[in-house]
Amino acid sequence: MNRQDNGDSPLLALAQDLVRRRSVTPDDGGCQAIVAERLRASGFTVESLDSGDVANLWCWRSWGEGPVFMFLGHTDVVPSGPAERWRHPPFDAVIADGYLHGRGSADMKGSVAAMVCALENIAQSAQSIAGTVGLLLTSDEEGDAILGVRHVVKIFKSRGQHVDFCLVGEPSSSLTLGDVVRIGRRGSLTATVDVRGVQGHVAYPDKAVNPIHAVLPILSELQQRNWDGDEPYPEFPPTSFQIANFNAGTGASNVIPGNARVQFNLRYSPRWNAQNLIDDIEALFLAAGVEAAFDWHRSGEPFHTSGGILRNAVRKILAKQCGITPEENTGGGTSDGRFIATMGAEIVELGPINSSIHQIDECVAVQDLLQLQHIYQHIARDCLSRNA
Ligand SMILES: [Zn+2]
Repeated sequence: MNRQDNGDSPLLALAQDLVRRRSVTPDDGGCQAIVAERLRASGFTVESLDSGDVANLWCWRSWGEGPVFMFLGHTDVVPSGPAERWRHPPFDAVIADGYLHGRGSADMKGSVAAMVCALENIAQSAQSIAGTVGLLLTSDEEGDAILGVRHVVKIFKSRGQHVDFCLVGEPSSSLTLGDVVRIGRRGSLTATVDVRGVQGHVAYPDKAVNPIHAVLPILSELQQRNWDGDEPYPEFPPTSFQIANFNAGTGASNVIPGNARVQFNLRYSPRWNAQNLIDDIEALFLAAGVEAAFDWHRSGEPFHTSGGILRNAVRKILAKQCGITPEENTGGGTSDGRFIATMGAEIVELGPINSSIHQIDECVAVQDLLQLQHIYQHIARDCLSRNA
């Protein structure tokens, strides 16, 4: 094993510092204090927007009138799992064989460090910039995501603040840095449905109502439906309906059960919103005369940056810095970008390779982090360029 130090790179030193804080969600572990101190020293205004046990930090600096460019990230991490199964201890931030190892190195303390250093560099030579750059961090991205960016956006809106461009540092890359960027995400809606029937003997079906039989045709219709119509929504995977759980039955082979419970999830394109889906599905049960109680959980509406200045800047900088034309897609789960999207911002997610995230032995290539800092810096400069 070839152990290396950070070669006096301020970026690697900061990334190591962050990884060494055990900030298992929603604990920030002191990460945001480090970032606040660094950016305050570079002339940024620093504001804590904590809520409950969640830490949120907003750092910003303006150079005259112009658009607002925000970097968005999180300082919390998922649990490490058994530390003895890691090649290097999960919170030691060991640099070896060209990689920074540790929980959160790729998701997404490496990106946060790259953003901070990019902002420091921008502050050092901002002659060509008009507008505001900022960094918003939360410590509950990996958790409930209620007191984090969702909460901050409420405050921003109440103060009349706006955001024009938002670059999210989530690890979007697949095989090489910058090969995939996300330009939106699908919405997510989960239903828990209790279907009521009448319990009885299987030999006397006329005296019972079988809730399984009642709900099966509806589930079958939902599962076979072409949710997006004739044409798939541009740049989105097809809307999908998946049954996650189905429970019914008393265990006895001669009893028609009195109720059934089914849980399903929809991942949907901007052709739908949560309320349309709820109305549509509940109407289906009503029309079939199936008695059911619904418990809906909306995780987030879909969002989509169909074009614009930020997407152009990302393409241009990735071509220049990495010689790569990224695949721009809306795959994967949802992200905190969904909250910023409600402010009307253009949103792109671009970060390191995601093959090890949430796993044992999470790591990020040192070279990728160093390059990411330049990429971030140039994208922000491009969007705020006086000549733009
Ligand atoms: Zn993340």
